[in-house]
Amino acid sequence: MSLPAEARYTIDLDALAANFSAVRREAEAAEVAPVVKADAYGLGLEPVVRRLWAEGARRFFTARLSEGVRLRGALGTSRPAAICVLDGCTDDAAPHLAAHDLTPVLNSLPQVREWTAYARTLGRTLSGVLHIDTGLNRLGLRPEEARALVQTSDGLHGVELELVMSHLACADPEVAPMDVAQAERFEAVTALFPQVRTSFGASAGLFLGERFRGQVVRPGIVLYGGGPFQTPDPRIRPVATLDAPILQVRSVAPGESVGYGAAYRAERALRVAVVGLGYADGVLRASERPRYGWFAGAKRAFLGRISMDLIALDVTGCEAWPGARVELFGPNVPVDEAAADAGTIAFELLSNVSSRVQRVYLGSDL
Ligand SMILES: *Cc1c(COP(=O)(O)O)cnc(C)c1O
Repeated sequence: MSLPAEARYTIDLDALAANFSAVRREAEAAEVAPVVKADAYGLGLEPVVRRLWAEGARRFFTARLSEGVRLRGALGTSRPAAICVLDGCTDDAAPHLAAHDLTPVLNSLPQVREWTAYARTLGRTLSGVLHIDTGLNRLGLRPEEARALVQTSDGLHGVELELVMSHLACADPEVAPMDVAQAERFEAVTALFPQVRTSFGASAGLFLGERFRGQVVRPGIVLYGGGPFQTPDPRIRPVATLDAPILQVRSVAPGESVGYGAAYRAERALRVAVVGLGYADGVLRASERPRYGWFAGAKRAFLGRISMDLIALDVTGCEAWPGARVELFGPNVPVDEAAADAGTIAFELLSNVSSRVQRVYLGSDL
């Protein structure tokens, strides 16, 4: 006997597939290699990658080695996709990377040395991706380090580069001077590797135009329903819906308070729905901005503080009853808007939904 529905995270795999198609159209000649780090931004690695494989994706990016291992397991031998691990060849990772046929993104000269040394130990060629830092100052070789590497005769001996990549710092809808500066540095380095394919744009870059894509693009957020520039975009469909049931509806008299700290005080008579969702489910508590849930055809304000398991919602003037569901984000509330209200970005809202929330998948993942 199945339990009654509690807080639920519904993932529409058909919408995911539609976004993958939209990105492919936008990317033109570039290959689309989905980024599926952090459990596919919280949506669930296995169903997401199975569906993306079915739609034609043949290269994926994870952040951690453990995610790469899990992804290799999820794909199995019948889906031999390339898996690139963004953290790269960290200490002691080499044997595990090789054993699971994972391609490290080589982020520093020590990582290059680790991987080439391991190739020598094995006596065979290993594949790698070379990451150039063009201004983000996060991971990657500086352009001058890449140049020195090329000039060293055995600098990459035993490693076959699949890609030379870089990552943009900005996600503005117009090309920023920073984007151009990064593109210029990237072009200068990729010219040193004329035989190797390039990978530059993530979600934002691939929507900025050809110069910011490279031959392989690495989108994450746009596949999962966020806009490329952190606002809703008509080309991208919502994929994830977070909703939860009303547990109780109560009347609050003028002058009474709602929730912890008596932080909200009613100025007039209210009807309040207490919803079974809280910060332990991943609803961020800290924002001081007005927050909303969607109920009975409109956005309704949160009242008072968010508790671990509960939120109070102003349902004055509409019919509300226990069991009726409130949407936090989804088709009616774009995740970019809900994120802005929560003082953050869609990436954090999506990936923060906790394991307590039941995942439900719509559409096929085969
Ligand atoms: C996370 C990440 C991406 C995907 O970024 P989106 O903005 O979600 O498309 C691509 N490349 C790198 C290096 C990343 O860390």
